[in-house]
Amino acid sequence: MRVDNYLEEKGEITNQDGLLLPGTSEFLRQSPMKNFIAGRWSDAQGGQPYKVIDPSTGSVLTTISLGTSADVDAAVKAAQKAFPGWAGKSPTERSVLLHRLADALEKKQGELSQIEALDVGKAVVNAEAFDIPFGVACIRYFADLAVHSQYSVPLAIRNMEARVYRAPYGVCGFIFPWNFPFDLLMWGIMPALAAGNTVVVKPSEITPLSTLFVCRVAEEIGFPEGVLNVVLGDGAGVGKALANHPDIQRMSFTGSPATGKQIAEACARNLIPCKLELGGKGAAVIFDDIDLDATAKQLASAITLNTGQVCCTATRWIIHESIFDKFVTRASEALEQTAIGPALDRNTQMGPLASEVHRNRVLGYLEKGESEGAKFLLKGTDFVVPGASGGYYMAPSLMSGSNENICCREEIFGPVAYLLKFQDEGEAVSMVNELRYGLANSVWSGDLSRANRVAEKMVAGNSWINAHNVFAYGLPYGGVNLSGFGGGVNSPETFFDYLRNQTIARPLA
Ligand code: NAD
Repeated sequence: MRVDNYLEEKGEITNQDGLLLPGTSEFLRQSPMKNFIAGRWSDAQGGQPYKVIDPSTGSVLTTISLGTSADVDAAVKAAQKAFPGWAGKSPTERSVLLHRLADALEKKQGELSQIEALDVGKAVVNAEAFDIPFGVACIRYFADLAVHSQYSVPLAIRNMEARVYRAPYGVCGFIFPWNFPFDLLMWGIMPALAAGNTVVVKPSEITPLSTLFVCRVAEEIGFPEGVLNVVLGDGAGVGKALANHPDIQRMSFTGSPATGKQIAEACARNLIPCKLELGGKGAAVIFDDIDLDATAKQLASAITLNTGQVCCTATRWIIHESIFDKFVTRASEALEQTAIGPALDRNTQMGPLASEVHRNRVLGYLEKGESEGAKFLLKGTDFVVPGASGGYYMAPSLMSGSNENICCREEIFGPVAYLLKFQDEGEAVSMVNELRYGLANSVWSGDLSRANRVAEKMVAGNSWINAHNVFAYGLPYGGVNLSGFGGGVNSPETFFDYLRNQTIARPLA
């Protein structure tokens, strides 16, 4: 079925031109979508309806009911009830179930990619090539790690028999943003589940669909009830209730620093550990000994990937003054060739921004930056995709000006880079470190010893060399300062974060 026929049936018209798989159409036909609690689909208790919008067209995809604190209570109770059974399984038994979930999701990659593309506005070809396979790989990584980890570690201490025993915490809470709903869900909950915890998840109200699809697949393969629970809702209702819930043993939040501070306060009041994966304002330091074309193309893709809605991407380009003009020309050429269009169009490289509110926010930043004196080197603010005028599109922009400008200092979260010039290495490093964000930066140079030196001096969770946005399982990923704390994701440490240490010791007679 074509997307436009499907939506016409529902009384909405969209200009998306593509084919929906039968599984995608059937999934989207449910409205309102329900909470997944204790292995069952339940209506929110007294919740308000909320429209889930396709940002490629501005049409309604489906609706959800915004949950309340009563729904959070029910989900936490279900997760508590399921905890002894799940924690009591052997790591291998849990791992087998997680691999079955990965197998089942892999079989539905087509549907999942379409759902993620429709919900977020991300190019379906990217969802197919990256988001979905990379998220499924996360399940397998933590499932395998669980089998090969030690849960009882002997300690060599004089006159003592002692060991550290590692046990899961209990019910863990998760709150996610809207930019990579499937991958962030996997990165978040998989280490927790593999370690034997049960989880309550609040996806973003803007993009809840792939999370619900995962629950459906979990239900189909007979995943034990109550181990994975999802409550739909907004931050003020469900998010706050979850972060403040007294029976949550460990909390994880991915989102903006402003909300992160509220989550940290709530966790401090309940004295529970929390992990914060927050925003970024990543820099790329570009020396004059690089391959100009290749670097310009790679950094152009860094700001168009997911329409620039990537927390760790390179949004401040700090360029050696001797190549500044040439670099701007090459990067502009690469950016102007970006195919912008509806997410399901297979030619699209960059879809719309994820919501109308967010598009207005991004455009508002650019206006404010210009009013503070920044100049556009490439302006992409008035962009309409022919035949999809209801979508939330913009083209990539490059700006330049003072390093005091709002567009240089704050996270815009769109396809925009702010360009600055430097003369020497020390100056470049100071420019990188002058903001309080600390998620990811990159350095570009043909001189690897210089690149390694600069990489070490840039203060952040991640320093990449001659590349930006580098992810692999086993490679820790997390932030410092305004970009968060508490562990990061994707490494063995993440898995051990979900096990509490308990010392068991006896003096030898
Ligand atoms: P946000 O902070 O507005 O919302 C994130 C989530 O928190 C949503 O589910 C929202 O409903 C919920 N929420 C809002 N207010 C809440 C409250 N008071 N209590 C509890 N929950 C609340 O962020 P966003 O706009 O959805 O996402 C964009 C931000 O996420 C950017 O700053 C981006 O850099 C960051 N991000 C970081 C990472 C990372 O790994 N570091 C990854 C993706 C996104």
